[in-house]
Amino acid sequence: MRNVNKENALVVFSGGQDSTTCLFWAKKMFKEVEALTFVYGQKHIQEVEAARHIAEIAGVKWDVMDVSFISKLGRNSLTDSSMEMDQEQPVGGVPNTFVPGRNLFFLSIAAVYARERGINHMVTGVGETDFSGYPDCRDAFIKSLNVTLNLAMDEQFVIHTPLMWIDKAKTWAMADELGVLDLVRKETLTCYNGIKGDGCGHCPACKLRREGLEKYLKELGVRN
Ligand code: ZN
Repeated sequence: MRNVNKENALVVFSGGQDSTTCLFWAKKMFKEVEALTFVYGQKHIQEVEAARHIAEIAGVKWDVMDVSFISKLGRNSLTDSSMEMDQEQPVGGVPNTFVPGRNLFFLSIAAVYARERGINHMVTGVGETDFSGYPDCRDAFIKSLNVTLNLAMDEQFVIHTPLMWIDKAKTWAMADELGVLDLVRKETLTCYNGIKGDGCGHCPACKLRREGLEKYLKELGVRN
């Protein structure tokens, strides 16, 4: 039987607010943590640099995998500069920032990568609370994929989703509890326009992030 280290975890890591919070959550939960970042044709390659830098600060092993082919399979406004980005979720649909198959590809590749290293715990920052209607952020999808991956490779993978049921304000609270609120504020890149930290301030990702932070700081009773 293959040697599986139950104390190690692999984090699917974009360098954004959610996956960075998950990276530090994993560091608390597991003895050893590795982070895997995907290049998928995103317009802002600064994301990858932010991820590399945060992994270095966190002291975790970091790797990057190029899966740019997924942006050629389906059109979306995160990888196609000729498309104008939806600012709101259209009625009865997903915004064009949705990258079809993204989490399916990422987690499937991450599972093969983890298996090769004897890791069976995987962590992803997806959640269905503030999720813009992306179907591959839902709990049912993650659970279903977890079963599929186990069947596909005859393994016992466990996909952890610490943010599944919490909103952005609670994600900020978690970062604070983990002692990385400032790091997440300054070093992560969530903005759809590729600006680190507080971002451009007006894209849907910046709005969601800022509203969550304001709500959390208000709850804390902190004014700034
Ligand atoms: Zn922005």
